[in-house]
Amino acid sequence: TKRKRWHDSYPEDVPVSIQYDEKPLHSYLEEAADRYPHKTALHFMGKKMTYSQVYQEASNLCGHLIKLGVTKGERIAVMLPNSPQAVISYYAALMTGAIVVQTNPLYVERELEHQMKDSGAKWIICLDLLYPRIKKIRNVTSLQHVIITSLKDYLPFPKNVLYPLSQKKNNNRNRDTNNDKNVHSFRSLVKQGTTLKTNVVINPQEDLALLQYTGGTTGTAKGVMLTHYNLVANALQCQAWMSKMKKGEEKMLAVLPFFHVYGLTVVMNLSIMHVCQMIILPKFDADLVLKSIHKHQVTLFPGAPTMYVGLIHTSSLKKYDLSSIEACISGSAPLPGEVQDTFEALTHGRLVEGYGLTEGSPVITANPIWGGRKTGSIGIPWPDTDVCVYSSDGTSVLPAGEIGELAVRGPQVMKGYWNHPEETTSVFIDDWLLTGDMGYMDEDGYFYISDRKKDMIVAGGFNIFPREVEEVLYEHPSVQEAAVIGVRDPYRGETVKACIVRKKGESVTEEELDAFCREHLAVYKIPRLFEFRQSLPKTTIGKVLKRKLLEEESHNE
Ligand code: AMP
Repeated sequence: TKRKRWHDSYPEDVPVSIQYDEKPLHSYLEEAADRYPHKTALHFMGKKMTYSQVYQEASNLCGHLIKLGVTKGERIAVMLPNSPQAVISYYAALMTGAIVVQTNPLYVERELEHQMKDSGAKWIICLDLLYPRIKKIRNVTSLQHVIITSLKDYLPFPKNVLYPLSQKKNNNRNRDTNNDKNVHSFRSLVKQGTTLKTNVVINPQEDLALLQYTGGTTGTAKGVMLTHYNLVANALQCQAWMSKMKKGEEKMLAVLPFFHVYGLTVVMNLSIMHVCQMIILPKFDADLVLKSIHKHQVTLFPGAPTMYVGLIHTSSLKKYDLSSIEACISGSAPLPGEVQDTFEALTHGRLVEGYGLTEGSPVITANPIWGGRKTGSIGIPWPDTDVCVYSSDGTSVLPAGEIGELAVRGPQVMKGYWNHPEETTSVFIDDWLLTGDMGYMDEDGYFYISDRKKDMIVAGGFNIFPREVEEVLYEHPSVQEAAVIGVRDPYRGETVKACIVRKKGESVTEEELDAFCREHLAVYKIPRLFEFRQSLPKTTIGKVLKRKLLEEESHNE
């Protein structure tokens, strides 16, 4: 009956079950190049590439990698901002049968060293400006080969809006790399072909395509093992969900980072599968995003709430026409209803909230795009996906309306954590993956997140979900952003603290916010402490780094 309830909420044009291709992820690029060779695959700061060109360069790189000794199952790290190189490297690595290790270009040495040691990657493809960091850890990890590219490799002329790192000049690079036979130039490997072609056989259900590290915001990063099948399934589910997308006609804004699985699946893999044009931006810059939507007539724009918040508060907003936008999915953090309404009013399309996690490739649920949606809800499970709510001891499944831990099963759920069998066992109950997110289902089968299990605040014996308090704060007209954390308290164990970013020109006080909260929340949930800040610390995908706020708190103690 549970299944039936949410299936009843599906719009008519979204199937509850779909057929999953048993083919490797990279076969979609080959197909697109075969059937639509001259279609534009990507735009990057004025440079265009067709599907045939992207495929050709990826094949060239794949051939060279094989010639240089890459074998099936080997790990290849890709440490690049969004760029043509990122797309080419990712697909080339998959074509060789290797496993891609996604590496955040902002990683510092310590994080990079952990990831390289843990994954055992022998190869890394990186930006020239990141090489000094890699050089420092090369001898203490398994890294042997480095392929270096420059953002300029794909720019018709230098632009001033580049990735922040590229502003630093790196004059030592040539001296460092010239005599090292294991340091290769990306440009030369993609420009000329080799006769060596791959004959690797992929078993999509078993073979890994990706090691996606997660846990960075909450603890030591672990590698989530995602198979070709997991990633193909999630992109196909997304395709089914966005039922009005027209193959070969959509323009997708690629501003979510590809090195996060959300950008990888919902932007890059979906685009290639659906033969979209990707408008690639190397970083989020509100003006540049608005300009790109206007100029390229973008139709699809998956993003994170902070991006939509940033856009609606940009002073140049009125200069741009956003009416080409048809569909946006917001994920990775809660989407305030007010932001949703304001953003939608600027477009002719819909902005809906979805939910996912790295372990789910990532998307698990979303609100119907052209159907009934509920503000504040993460929506209903995607095709062939089951979600249930477990009691906190994991012994029983709770009925509608009761809060527990969300668990999920479906074709997109990971194989496990790389090298961590005991951690893998601890997050599965049979084939249900425990998400670590607390929430509930309503009578119509829509799900709601109360909070992350770990973020729950226990004050004087009461359970407080920061998200609920944040939602109230967001409703205050002077609040731009709010993050609520639990801080140590001698009497209540923990107490509630709110970190607030005021809207420009606003001067709301602690007393006013306190009075506002008192109107809307039970007394034990009201923040006892307020801190006004210029900004909140965030991950590259725009998720508030609560760990950072908590760390600052413990330093102050
Ligand atoms: P990650 O694995 O880094 O993608 O983080 C996944 C986590 O992000 C989930 O377990 C949730 O805690 C959070 N998350 C994702 N989407 C939402 C959403 N729509 N609302 C609230 N939290 C979300």
